[in-house]
Amino acid sequence: MIKVLVVEDDAQLVRALRINLEARKFEVETASEGSKALNLAAAGKPDVIVLDLGLPDIDGIDVITAVRESSRVPILVLSARHTSEEKIRALDAGADDYVTKPFSMDELLARLRAAIRRGEIPAPSKEISMVTTDDFTVDLVAKKVSRGDRRVRLTPTEWHLLEILITNPGRLVSQRKLLLDVWGPTYSEHTNYLRVYMAQLRRKLEADPSHPRYLITEPGMGYRYEG
Ligand code: CA
Repeated sequence: MIKVLVVEDDAQLVRALRINLEARKFEVETASEGSKALNLAAAGKPDVIVLDLGLPDIDGIDVITAVRESSRVPILVLSARHTSEEKIRALDAGADDYVTKPFSMDELLARLRAAIRRGEIPAPSKEISMVTTDDFTVDLVAKKVSRGDRRVRLTPTEWHLLEILITNPGRLVSQRKLLLDVWGPTYSEHTNYLRVYMAQLRRKLEADPSHPRYLITEPGMGYRYEG
């Protein structure tokens, strides 16, 4: 049984989540405060955490930071619509994904399943050596990209971006993380660089670059590779 820790102070939402999750055979534990959540996360070893960012005692971001000190458990954040900056901070602190309130139960369950699947892959960047799609193939060991039998030439910057996204399949990678990893700390605000380089990558890899299938933009947040 997959164990879900739901951290949320809205009792009505907790009830709805419990009913829906238990109906799908998840084992559910709940905490309405961050401090209790940290105790349960340490003692109960949940398989996935659903975390509201607005908690009465500890800031949800601090809960993520504290959990990440000792655990790689997938964390799915629940966040209010008007706080996109907060969502970015949550991703940078180590959250895996987010769902914006109000959300449909189907959307939450889909995100939850995706987060659990990713959590089962121990160290994706070391496990994956070859990624094949309908349109291109990426050899992560030889650092080669091809479309059919034609070699695609990428600049080192394009390669670095593609490598980060492709080794985190399905996962939203924040703009800030990409800028920090590829360009370094002094460039963390230069989101225009990302737009330019992602457009180049799409031209080289996507069948229809203006309607990307693999390199997906999450507006204002970051990018996601869908395999
Ligand atoms: Ca709340």
